[in-house]
Amino acid sequence: PADPKGKGKQSPRATAMIVIGMAGSGKTTFMQRVNSYLHERNQPPYVLNLDPAVMHLPFDANIDIRDTVDYPEVMKQYNLGPNGGIMTALNLFTTKFDQVLSHVEKRANDVDYVLLDTPGQIEIFTWSASGSIITDALASALPTVVVYIIDTPRTTAPATFMSNMLYACSILYKTRLPFLVVFNKTDVQSHQFALEWMRDFEQFQDALLERRQTHGDEDGPAYQDSLMNSMSLVLDEFYKHLRAVGVSAMTGEGMDELFDAVQEARQEYEREY
Ligand code: GDP
Ligand code: MG
Repeated sequence: PADPKGKGKQSPRATAMIVIGMAGSGKTTFMQRVNSYLHERNQPPYVLNLDPAVMHLPFDANIDIRDTVDYPEVMKQYNLGPNGGIMTALNLFTTKFDQVLSHVEKRANDVDYVLLDTPGQIEIFTWSASGSIITDALASALPTVVVYIIDTPRTTAPATFMSNMLYACSILYKTRLPFLVVFNKTDVQSHQFALEWMRDFEQFQDALLERRQTHGDEDGPAYQDSLMNSMSLVLDEFYKHLRAVGVSAMTGEGMDELFDAVQEARQEYEREY
């Protein structure tokens, strides 16, 4: 066929943002901020909460996993701990995702953004069949962007930074979707250092050396530095194509830049997917 993927067809108006990040990085707070930012601009989003374990949701969700799956009951019934419970709750929800998607699709030309919050433990979403099914289903229905939230104050050590960026890289390759790194909590710690390390790997290597001199073996044995030096060369290639912005989900700083980057990522989706 001349147009195998139907690329000639017009994409829906809405852009979906899948919010992923380590537990505590600020996903839920970020969702709340983005939600209120969009409301203020008269662009109310369509919101999905996929975290079954959240006690209090600080924003209104159009679709909430907790409405269909009773997480404490799942743990009890299947004799599971917290993570097994979340995983199973997500699996149960995924069996109904075709219905969820039809709701989303109905609204995809009425809203500018569809927001999706994911469970606390990142691998439950990124490395599960359910996570892949949900991501792929959403991405085949509307332009979809992965928003990877990083806890900036907790990623200032070069070794931590590197492992976080490798994780980001792995999610990019797993989802193969337009990707945006969000350095959160800039009210506590500016993300300038991260931008510098990403722009120039020699600055990262200098920081690594300096950290070794000031902290000794605290971050691991010295031979790891040569591994990290090599790895920084590899990541350099990843960084070149990476969109990164700094925000504070707490204060709202950086929201305009965030949405510029989301729009750029949407354009990438329209070109590539
Ligand atoms: P989640 O587990 O990724 O959903 O993270 P939460 O949204 O629950 O946030 C974890 C903790 O980080 C909470 O105590 C938040 O108040 C805090 N937090 C989130 N975003 C920010 C931010 O931009 N600045 C500061 N200072 N704290 C934040
Ligand atoms: Mg959360």
